[in-house]
Amino acid sequence: MDFPHGGPPPIKRDDGLRETKDLHEKVWDLERRLEKQSVTLQAVCTLLEEKGISPAALLAEVRRVEQHRASAAVKPCARCGRAIGRRQSACVYCGEPRVVESAFEEL
Ligand SMILES: [Zn+2]
Repeated sequence: MDFPHGGPPPIKRDDGLRETKDLHEKVWDLERRLEKQSVTLQAVCTLLEEKGISPAALLAEVRRVEQHRASAAVKPCARCGRAIGRRQSACVYCGEPRVVESAFEEL
């Protein structure tokens, strides 16, 4: 059977396999990085406890930060006043960059 324009489009199977392999590597890298952060956090917690900061105090601070981040999830645009989500770098309505007050807002 003849196809117009020299034949059917090439099979995308290799692209799909490559994409799956890339995603697998990214997941593996994220898991490795998460494990490193978990180990680092555990070490920091141990040091803090040795310095007199109790696990309960640390947990209370974690909850305070969580509440602060949740309340800061949406900010009003400095130009038009519409809401800008935490993951947006600029207002989708007017393009004004989102004001970042702390490096932790970028995490
Ligand atoms: Zn705006």
